[in-house]
Amino acid sequence: MNAKKMMYAAAALVAGWAGVAVSATAKGPICETSANVNSTTYYNCSGSSHTALDMGNASCGEWNHRAMLSGSFYYKYYGGCAAACYGSDCNGGAGNYYVVTGANGWDFRQLHIYANVSSGSKTCDGCALGLVGGTGSATGPHVHADNRQYATRKSAWYTSKGTTCGSSAYCGNVVGYPTL
Ligand SMILES: [Zn+2]
Repeated sequence: MNAKKMMYAAAALVAGWAGVAVSATAKGPICETSANVNSTTYYNCSGSSHTALDMGNASCGEWNHRAMLSGSFYYKYYGGCAAACYGSDCNGGAGNYYVVTGANGWDFRQLHIYANVSSGSKTCDGCALGLVGGTGSATGPHVHADNRQYATRKSAWYTSKGTTCGSSAYCGNVVGYPTL
């Protein structure tokens, strides 16, 4: 077996090794260049603990809230919340949201969706999941994204990319590398 074939064999072995968490790539959720990150490890970057990214472009119910992971992933939808821009008591504060489930207790979530015809469980790459809104615990319309292991939010996925307050949340910009 030559070196190239050995590399292919090794890659196939890793890909087939079920149950091993891998690194994914996450882009900004809003396809408008003014969208940015306004909260990271701490709310508003200086308040209480948050350990997630909040991203917005100051609009509500106008722009698509897009699937952030590069490549095809299954986004399971949890809906039922009425349209809201400045918060509601729904789904334990998550509002309308999606979960992508990975290995070893890891998941990636996108919260506070303003539901529309695009909202529902689906497998896709960068598709519209609904609109940017503020369902659940939200003081304004934004996208909340977190990467958790056994329900504990982790920060490495965005700190490793250097994403902080003011970073671009445009859909063409990478904001982090979640584990799944
Ligand atoms: Zn948040």
